[in-house]
Amino acid sequence: MSNARPKLSLPAQMVIGLVVGVLVGLVVSADVCGTYFRPLGQLFITLIRMVVVPLVLATIIAGAAGIHDLGKLGRVAVKTLVYYFATTAVAVIIGLVLANITQPGIGLDLSTEGLKAASVTPPNLIQTLLNIVPMNPMDALAKGNMLQVIFFAVMFGFALSSLGESGRPLLRVFELMGETMIRMTNIVMMYAPIGVFGLMAFTVSQHGVAVLLPLGKLIAVMFAAAIIHVCVCYIPLVRGVVGISPLKFFKGVAEPALIAFTTCSSAAALPNNLQSVRRLGASKGVASFSIPLGNTINMDGTAIYMGVAAVFAAEVYGIPMPIDKQLTVLLMGVLASIGTAGVPGAGLIMVSMVFTQINIPLEAVALVAGIDRILDMARTSLNVLGDATGALVVSRLEGDLNKDPFHEGEKTGALGTGTETYEG
Ligand code: ASP
Repeated sequence: MSNARPKLSLPAQMVIGLVVGVLVGLVVSADVCGTYFRPLGQLFITLIRMVVVPLVLATIIAGAAGIHDLGKLGRVAVKTLVYYFATTAVAVIIGLVLANITQPGIGLDLSTEGLKAASVTPPNLIQTLLNIVPMNPMDALAKGNMLQVIFFAVMFGFALSSLGESGRPLLRVFELMGETMIRMTNIVMMYAPIGVFGLMAFTVSQHGVAVLLPLGKLIAVMFAAAIIHVCVCYIPLVRGVVGISPLKFFKGVAEPALIAFTTCSSAAALPNNLQSVRRLGASKGVASFSIPLGNTINMDGTAIYMGVAAVFAAEVYGIPMPIDKQLTVLLMGVLASIGTAGVPGAGLIMVSMVFTQINIPLEAVALVAGIDRILDMARTSLNVLGDATGALVVSRLEGDLNKDPFHEGEKTGALGTGTETYEG
């Protein structure tokens, strides 16, 4: 369409950053990559996470105030939660079944001497639920406690909408704040190719082929399970329920998926995911509620990992895994998906909770820790894709798909048509 000189789209630039990062990571030493390239990636993650708390606060307040009727919010919440639980349970089952078939831990002779891992006690359910209510919302914001921020923002939004006309100016403030944070995301995204390069160079330099080889089968099983989950869950839902072509979907979510893959933080992919699903037709109300919520409690990739890792570790230690243990893993996998933070390596901490429940030595955690970053790439990408699919599915079920098109003003900038380029 544009007749200006062709410019590379942002996802294409990010892929180039990724490939160059891998190549550099293969030839340059881990020390050099750690000293010079890693900070480039850390800067990217920090910049993008800087946007998350104000963005979530503003969009949820504006979204909840815009929904007006409580019944609608209740319906959206129920449908969203049903989707989360169902897809997460399917994810753990896929992980368990695939690991049982492929047996990634059999024949592995890994020394576990000297490995130590700290145990994690499963959180108390009632306390966890109580903790969703922040005693001090400012503290929740400062600490970035997403569930607490969401709770406060939803209540605030409802209270604001009940003020009627007199509340409009404040509502407008939050709408504008959300739009401003999205603009900020777009500005930060101009730096994404360089950030991706830094992250990949560091990751690859750390995990030379020698480190990956003994656990290659585990890595392959994790990636295969993630791909199967996309094929049996997301593609049929996107095609059958949402009614858009999978190709359009994947093109639409390429940016948040790439951010997730390279940063291993679904929190870092949140601002971009919000925009991507809006562009694909998710309604503002549904997206602004379900994307931040899903980011916090819907983690299909992490859930798959619980299944795969449990079977793997049991095999390495020769511990039988009867069906009742596998059912425990299923339950724990769903809980882990809720409790895991959207930051790198969080799933590795949760896996120790699962191991404790089924009496697998915690040294097994240390066994997989060396390659966790690679597994995390698959986990986080899937976590983000699951949230995107959920927002679209619930929008469709609410009859809201494409109802309130993405705001024109939000469309411009680095994420949209590529009007800016980054000369690195
Ligand atoms: N890194 C993942 C995420 O941010 C969580 C995990 O470690 O499983 O979604």
